[in-house]
Amino acid sequence: KVSTDGTVQYSMQRNYPAVRQLSPAKRERILVTGGAGFVGSHLVDRLMWMGHEVIVLDNFFTGTKRNVQHWIGHPHFELVSHDVVDPFMIEVSQIYHLACPASPPHYQYNPTKTVKTSVMGTINMLGLAKRTKARFLLTSTSEIYGDPEEHPQKETYWGHVNPIGPRACYDEGKRIAETLTYSYMRQNDVDVRVARIFNTFGPRMSPADGRVVSNFIMQALRSEPLTIYGDGDQTRSFQYVHDLVDGLILLMNKNYMEPVNLGNTEEYTIKDFAIMIRDQVISSPVAKPVNDVKIKTLPAAMDDPRKRKPDITRAKKYLGWEPRFAVKQGIQETVDWFKLQQVEGAI
Ligand code: NAD
Ligand code: UDP
Repeated sequence: KVSTDGTVQYSMQRNYPAVRQLSPAKRERILVTGGAGFVGSHLVDRLMWMGHEVIVLDNFFTGTKRNVQHWIGHPHFELVSHDVVDPFMIEVSQIYHLACPASPPHYQYNPTKTVKTSVMGTINMLGLAKRTKARFLLTSTSEIYGDPEEHPQKETYWGHVNPIGPRACYDEGKRIAETLTYSYMRQNDVDVRVARIFNTFGPRMSPADGRVVSNFIMQALRSEPLTIYGDGDQTRSFQYVHDLVDGLILLMNKNYMEPVNLGNTEEYTIKDFAIMIRDQVISSPVAKPVNDVKIKTLPAAMDDPRKRKPDITRAKKYLGWEPRFAVKQGIQETVDWFKLQQVEGAI
């Protein structure tokens, strides 16, 4: 605050978002690896609002302190700069293990490091779960199904992954992370949960992330052509991040140990998705006018799955979960968030 005589006064008081008061007996001490990332930071918000104690472990490769800055200094919150490839000692009751780059450009930037993160990072976190008897949840991915021959994909499908292609560091890394998770369950009685997450979008996606939703929104906002890789007939099913967070917390706290798909069953071709996003960006209230936005085709990405859609029967049956947000509604909120960032000069 600048006072009338021009001196600057610093206040140590901060206004934090309100959190529920939980009795110490009900309050979990929760570790979230990758908690400064896109999904992780939304999960952290929810766990904090619920009244738990949250420790975030992140090396800030793709995440940023900005995503959790509103909690820094809160007595229930701790942010630790750490790479999960190295062991970490702490006492916790639950571990959400998210740390891993998730967008193709980021996980392909240093493929060996991506494999190390999935393999060594997951071993370290499972070792921690074993010692502390914490419940462990792995955020696996629909990518473990590869370019699927079964559609929609059920959890019983074993997948169709190229083990030596450019996506293998991520897909195979997550497959071995699942194998490790069930090995620790069988061998060491670790209490495990595995979420197979399908394409997720929402506020706090990094504009430079390289995934399709942030690419298309940023391109439309800058009146640049939307870039479709390949013919655009490949499909994806997109879920809004708040639905995913609901599913992760339900899964952690239910007594179900098999893998569970978490995704929205609304399936789009990338071509149709581009048109939908362009129209939403153009029609929503604008701070900066968006001019005519074209769509252009670029060469297809190697090993790009042709189709993807979750079968969520298991999540419905065992978690009582299904998405609450229509894709268009989520896209609208995400477009509004990106626009706000643009107005504030943050992107
Ligand atoms: P993200 O890139 O925004 O977040 C990943 C976080 O992990 C970042 O904060 C990053 O800095 C951190 N990280 C990466 N390597 C690390 C390391 N070695 N040590 C410590 N921290 C590290 O990605 P996201 O979309 O939030 O994904 C989170 C998790 O969910 C990932 O495990 C991803 O595989 C999984 N997932 C996400 C999606 C999706 O569509 N968002 C889909 C399937 C699975
Ligand atoms: N994609 C695209 N243009 C882009 C980014 C992605 O056409 O600017 C396509 C990509 O080839 C894939 C789909 O959109 O078919 C989803 O890509 P993303 O990287 O978001 O996720 P993933 O391939 O991991 O599902």
